[in-house]
Amino acid sequence: MAQSKQPDTMEKIISLCKRRGFVYQGSEIYGGLAGTWDYGPYGVALKKNIEGLWWKRFVTDREDMYGMDAAILMNQNVWKASGHVGGFSDPLVECAKCKRRFRADQIIDKKKCTECGGTLGEEKQFNMMFKTQIGATEDETSISYLRPETAQGMFVNFKNVYDSFHPKLPFGLAQIGKAFRNEIAPRDFLFRVRELEQMEIEYFVRPSEWEEKFEEFRKEVWEFTKDVGLPKENIHELEVPDGERAHYSKRTIDFEFDFPFGKKELYGLAYRTDYDLGSHSKASTVPLEYFDEDTKERFTPHCIEPSFGVGRTMLAVLASAYTEDEMGGETRTFLKFAPAVAPVKIAVFPLLKNKPQLVEKAREVYALLKKEFGAVEFDDNGNIGKRYRRQDEIGTPFCVTVDFDTLEKDNTVTVRDRDSGIQTRVAIAELLERLTKLLG
Ligand code: ATP
Repeated sequence: MAQSKQPDTMEKIISLCKRRGFVYQGSEIYGGLAGTWDYGPYGVALKKNIEGLWWKRFVTDREDMYGMDAAILMNQNVWKASGHVGGFSDPLVECAKCKRRFRADQIIDKKKCTECGGTLGEEKQFNMMFKTQIGATEDETSISYLRPETAQGMFVNFKNVYDSFHPKLPFGLAQIGKAFRNEIAPRDFLFRVRELEQMEIEYFVRPSEWEEKFEEFRKEVWEFTKDVGLPKENIHELEVPDGERAHYSKRTIDFEFDFPFGKKELYGLAYRTDYDLGSHSKASTVPLEYFDEDTKERFTPHCIEPSFGVGRTMLAVLASAYTEDEMGGETRTFLKFAPAVAPVKIAVFPLLKNKPQLVEKAREVYALLKKEFGAVEFDDNGNIGKRYRRQDEIGTPFCVTVDFDTLEKDNTVTVRDRDSGIQTRVAIAELLERLTKLLG
């Protein structure tokens, strides 16, 4: 069976996402809002599955991790101390003629506008934080920002968690949440957006153990890519060289992915030293320290930060899963999702809609599976071939069909595999066990 990925994969993915209710353009009926996307029913299911796998691997399956959910709006002093007010900026150039703005580090010709041929102005630093006012008075003190990363919410809660739980080093805080960046040039669908979602960990260690823990997280990042079904050969580590790392980082590895538009950053893993806790201790005058009961030493822990973008994961998952092949003499489009991320795990069909006994039996099977697996759909619309195609397109791993043999012969149903199209007869009595095994 020939399978292919075409060069126009991105357009096809975006169109499938819209058509089948994964992702819509933000504010679409008003002409859209650049850099924003809305998740539809299947998109939100896919997103929650990705986040669930992340939370399980990094929080619930571990003893040393504390989940949290900090406010998006924070005291402006947080962003002063973190360095974002002064330095969270990208280099910007503006065309004198058409006024279009470009990221200076993303264009080849820094003098001439690629859109209208006009002259590009001097490079300026553009702060990417969205500024807002809190409360009814508008002055310097009421300024706040939509957080550009979730990380700071964890640093400022270090002491709270430490005081409530008395964890021993090493331990970490983990959070999934929205972040906002006023990107100069949002592009490539979910890859570069202005309203994004991150899954981040701040893992606190003794200065002497940072290398060991860095290596552990390096492996865990790879394990997570397996959880969501990304092919290993499309992921590459990039050791960020001296001079190119963020000012706080002593070591950074970018995990890059072969997106349809090129090899780009998927995740980051950074050793942030004691920079963040140190800066917040100083600026807030609240010591953010750890007390070692054994040595009676008090010190500022160092931090390892694995940082994951939800949207970039989703795009990598979609791009990896998108497949076209020939089946039954026609071209079929399907999403080869790993069962763990698939928005719908199983679809149940009666072979024919107008045979009440088939429908009744299929409803029974549907109720049985729905109770066990949750993400199960019932469909009796159109012919069976169309129903299979519809489920293939949203990446449903298995379809279960109730046919005449079910009623007249042996109480078995067919279980169809999405990728091969092969159907196997399974007794209803064994269906739960079989599907549990197949879904992994
Ligand atoms: P880039 O260099 O691509 O702008 P970055 O190095 O600024 O990314 P980080 O600040 O390290 O990114 O953010 C951590 C993670 O958050 C990234 O690895 C990515 O998965 C995600 N992320 C960052 N910016 C965006 C964005 N504008 N849209 C979608 N995801 C993003």
